[in-house]
Amino acid sequence: MLQEQEAHAAEMERTFIAIKPDGVQRSLIAEIISRFERKGFKLVAIKIVVPSKNFAEKHYHDLKERPFFNGLCDFLSSGPVVAMVWEGEGVIKYGRKLIGATDPQKSEPGTIRGDLAVVVGRNIIHGSDGPETAKDEINLWFKPEELVNYTNNAEKWVYGDN
Ligand code: UDP
Ligand code: MG
Repeated sequence: MLQEQEAHAAEMERTFIAIKPDGVQRSLIAEIISRFERKGFKLVAIKIVVPSKNFAEKHYHDLKERPFFNGLCDFLSSGPVVAMVWEGEGVIKYGRKLIGATDPQKSEPGTIRGDLAVVVGRNIIHGSDGPETAKDEINLWFKPEELVNYTNNAEKWVYGDN
């Protein structure tokens, strides 16, 4: 049992998820949190903030050569964003599956963007695209002490313990 728990702990990952200003204004905060929560992932940090334009540019630095970069950063900094860190086995990759394709016209029904968004410029949610970006984005948005380590009582039912 101990070995299984250690293996489970070793596979734990964290990802950065943000509900963008359109998701907040459309009252989709609870809906989006609910999808991650019901899956069995664990919320370890959350706050609501209005990022500055400069901060948005840091967050999206990888995209600075793209034609939509300026509009995207204006939009991200236009109002409140719900910034979160979610933890779980495979949460980086599976979080992206829950979110769906970047363009909501191509997102499958059943995904967050597929069900709740229509155009790429208003696709309501951000999720880290890999382990390196997850680490960088968590560090950009949160101080270490804002991440909460705790055991959720449901974990043994989500992952099993024998
Ligand atoms: N975006 C856009 N036009 C595009 C491609 C992307 O406005 O043609 C926006 C969109 O909001 C997307 C964000 O830029 O979520 C970041 O783009 P990325 O390719 O990283 O997509 P994501 O990781 O969010 O699916
Ligand atoms: Mg991306």
